[in-house]
Amino acid sequence: MRDPDRPRDKTKLSHVSESQYVDNQHSDDTPKEACGVFGIYAPGQPVAHLTYLGLYALQHRGQESAGMAVGDGDSLTVVKEMGLVSNVFDDRTLSTLSGDLAIGHTRYSTTGSSTWRNAQPVYRGIDHVEFALGHNGNLVNTETLTVESGMLPGTVTSDTDLMAELLMSALLERPEIGSSEAFEAALREVLPRLSGAFSLVLADRTQIIGVRDPNGFRPLCLGRLDGGWVLASETPALDVIGAHVVREIEPGEVVIIDRNGCRSLHPFDTVDVDPRLCLFEFVYFARPDSNLYGQSVHHARVRMGEMLADQAPVDADLVMGVPESGIPAAEGYARRSAIDFGHGLVKNRYIGRTFIAPTQALRSTAVRMKLNPLRDSIDGQRLVVVDDSIVRGTTTRSMVRMLRDAGAKEVHLRISSPPYRWPCFYGMDTGAKAELLAANLTVDEIREYLDVDTLSYLTLDHLLKATGAVGAGFCTACLTGEYPVSIPQILTEQSRKMQAIDQSVTLGLEQTQSGLSAAEATRLFNRT
Ligand code: SF4
Repeated sequence: MRDPDRPRDKTKLSHVSESQYVDNQHSDDTPKEACGVFGIYAPGQPVAHLTYLGLYALQHRGQESAGMAVGDGDSLTVVKEMGLVSNVFDDRTLSTLSGDLAIGHTRYSTTGSSTWRNAQPVYRGIDHVEFALGHNGNLVNTETLTVESGMLPGTVTSDTDLMAELLMSALLERPEIGSSEAFEAALREVLPRLSGAFSLVLADRTQIIGVRDPNGFRPLCLGRLDGGWVLASETPALDVIGAHVVREIEPGEVVIIDRNGCRSLHPFDTVDVDPRLCLFEFVYFARPDSNLYGQSVHHARVRMGEMLADQAPVDADLVMGVPESGIPAAEGYARRSAIDFGHGLVKNRYIGRTFIAPTQALRSTAVRMKLNPLRDSIDGQRLVVVDDSIVRGTTTRSMVRMLRDAGAKEVHLRISSPPYRWPCFYGMDTGAKAELLAANLTVDEIREYLDVDTLSYLTLDHLLKATGAVGAGFCTACLTGEYPVSIPQILTEQSRKMQAIDQSVTLGLEQTQSGLSAAEATRLFNRT
């Protein structure tokens, strides 16, 4: 099958330095989602085509690779490739994948490199025993599990690969191997050993299984389709195939779906079950047409903007959002402040994922490729610019310069979440702490660095209220430093090492892109 991304794999381009790479997914100034998962049990239905549609609806959660595993009662067939869902599957491929059940996956790598081997679903098979696994999230105890299991270095290449290996080992020890009872027993044995974030879909020849970790960091919902059941990271994946939402899978719940219907297990210790859905699903990651904790994500984002307007009003002529995710909050801000809402930036939706820029000047145009100002709307205007978050600040800084070049008289930046100060270890790629602008600068220094007239962030209290999910549990670790699942020292040390490397990279880029002197940049980025 065609592999559009592989020839551009960084590992195969040794003559290209890291800094020459302009990767529009990775260099983007927003946190990155880890993955989307989908599962369907629907005998008699075109499960591969339905999985394709479901994955298409989850494409925003990962664009590096896509795959599916289809079971027909006698065998399990896995197809996975690097690239977008539409690159990986075509009519011919899908028409060869007939069966009663399927699971699917779209991937953005946060552990394990972006290679074909790490594309998912991960497959394990010995004789008549086989299964496939798709994972959204990140384990934080992979090191311990690897050592405890006595695995040789290189046996597994990602936390998902490790889970599959542990499950296969547990299955092989069961006398009733090959039965659904054996699979259930293996899950009961392995799942409580995992620590961190994991929303999983699994399939063998006759059943699909959904798993949500005891904190429910990543979403997973259950839907009903004529004669079948569906699992998906987000509700729009159910909408597109005509399924209706039954409910969210509970934190710590395992759902097994087979010809007997749908049943639940609760293999985790009840004291560990503590709902902590990632708050950034509401802020940025999830699609606006998703429902989380029974709340509309779009309406939550509009409320964030309304609360920002109450919290940080300003005299201005126009409120605009940074496309796409800043727009609902901008609408809310405009409505509450009675300032005109308009569009000031156009986003190119068709930009490719990666290209190699041979010069600094070309690399600097990367932001311009994504966002272009609408000069007629901006010229001479006092702007309120609403965005969902600032992670590294590089894109925001370039965007502000674009707006000023287009004639903006004032730029007042409003962010619909609190300062992002701590790295995520639960499946979001935000980089090391040194890369996080708010970890190193005060709000006033950030304002100065971004060159905006005023800057305000939504408070955590307001953000939690804006979700509408009163009393629901959230992870807020990247905003508060309070990690619901403790992070092993080895991970924080790795992050610190990355910090040293990233800091030098950041400094190098900032000196050329922003025009700051080396001394200024060092002062700004060294304030820890
Ligand atoms: Fe989400 Fe932040 Fe928690 Fe990561 S640390 S799961 S991004 S809230």
